[in-house]
Amino acid sequence: MRTQRQVVDYSLQKRVLLRDLHNGKIGTLEVCDASPYLRNAARFHGEPTDERCPVCRRDNLTLVHYIYGDELKQSAGQARKLAELPVLAMTLREFQVFVVEVCQTCAWNHLIEQFLLGRDALHPDEPHQGVAAAASSASGRHHETGSSSLRRKGRQ
Ligand SMILES: [Zn+2]
Repeated sequence: MRTQRQVVDYSLQKRVLLRDLHNGKIGTLEVCDASPYLRNAARFHGEPTDERCPVCRRDNLTLVHYIYGDELKQSAGQARKLAELPVLAMTLREFQVFVVEVCQTCAWNHLIEQFLLGRDALHPDEPHQGVAAAASSASGRHHETGSSSLRRKGRQ
């Protein structure tokens, strides 16, 4: 999605958790604890993937997208289908998306990514601006998200 920004990647935290699991430092029950709500969200709003569950290896993971933000009012905290996000991104100024992977077989679940969506990111591309202006602002739009500091934190 072209308005996606401030992406935070949690794949390192996931790797650390899976390593601890395989080393026996933590038990399967501690990580395979998806709530009935999350499992329902995966079933009805989830995005299927080709990626095998890293814990049970019996099922493919499903991605659930949760949306948060003041503009969403009573919809805040709801799971939405991936296809609904671009529509919301054109309607709302800014909202937060949390992506959680879920295994519907063993209940493994982990936050994998978060990012912002919304019209606020579109201002540099307003059609009445010149091509040169759009091109020069495009180069400045790839901000570092602070995920490197998060990565350091996760390393211990
Ligand atoms: Zn599983």
